[in-house]
Amino acid sequence: MICPKCSYNQKYSDGMYCSKCHRNFIFNPKVNDYNDYKFKLLEERVSHKSTLFYTENQLYIGYLHSIKFRLRENIGLVIFFIFLVIVLIAVKAYLFLIFLLFIIPSSKLFGKENMSGDEFRRRVSTWNRQEALHNLIQEPGMHDAPASFPEDDLYDYGVEAVLIVDQDIYVDLFVRNKCHIEAKVVVISQNGYPNYLVKKVQRILDENEQAKIYYIHDTTTDFAAMQQAVRSFLTVPSTAEENDLGLFQEDIKNISFLRGLKLDKEFCVDYLPPSKLGPCLTSSITTGTLLLTSLINIETETSVSSDFG
Ligand SMILES: [Zn+2]
Repeated sequence: MICPKCSYNQKYSDGMYCSKCHRNFIFNPKVNDYNDYKFKLLEERVSHKSTLFYTENQLYIGYLHSIKFRLRENIGLVIFFIFLVIVLIAVKAYLFLIFLLFIIPSSKLFGKENMSGDEFRRRVSTWNRQEALHNLIQEPGMHDAPASFPEDDLYDYGVEAVLIVDQDIYVDLFVRNKCHIEAKVVVISQNGYPNYLVKKVQRILDENEQAKIYYIHDTTTDFAAMQQAVRSFLTVPSTAEENDLGLFQEDIKNISFLRGLKLDKEFCVDYLPPSKLGPCLTSSITTGTLLLTSLINIETETSVSSDFG
């Protein structure tokens, strides 16, 4: 186990505290088949070396991606195993064959055991308590207007449309990663979060009858229900153009980097890598396509994989 803090290489038998710097190891390699050093590298990849903000879901997708069994990379091992089985059958060494199948866990050969989503997120929380993950967004944190937030601040980046998301935390994810600036949108949630922006959004709608409103949501959230929720705190002009950018369950099969991953929830907005949210949003708004269509159009599996490892 390599300590991510001081790089000391410690034996498992020496315990879960680093002998050099006394840091507590969070992931137990014997239990989770995963270790702190791998997590540190994962965090660096997902955050693009701490330049992007991310959620626990995005880390979890990155984790699932990193443990995914890839035949291309393990083809040598698989061929050797099949060869060994054939040889053992040929020499009628059945007992040895049974012994072999017994001692090699199938997870080693055909993909590693997953840590459950809950278990992974619990360990991430423990890590965050022990050493703050500064770019991790665990809960909405933009309730108050920034100290320097003049009335016309929104117009400084030329807001042209309103983006409504279903989860409050997605407002933080889009805004802290500055996705709203390039896409020229003001982002609020269907719950009216952050509250200090609601009045400003109303002003945009009042001043522009053809205002465009875009909606982005998890596959489990209903577009019509979102439209209704928004109307509890906003007066939407009947001439406003409302566009549902997704996500939809049926599109998931087209997302190559999610294939073969054992997801523990329905598809969420924050299953997309942080680095792709901004470009996808801008592309969707510019071309009027769904968020996932934009992802497919602008990215190949390789470049998404480089984020998620
Ligand atoms: Zn250490």
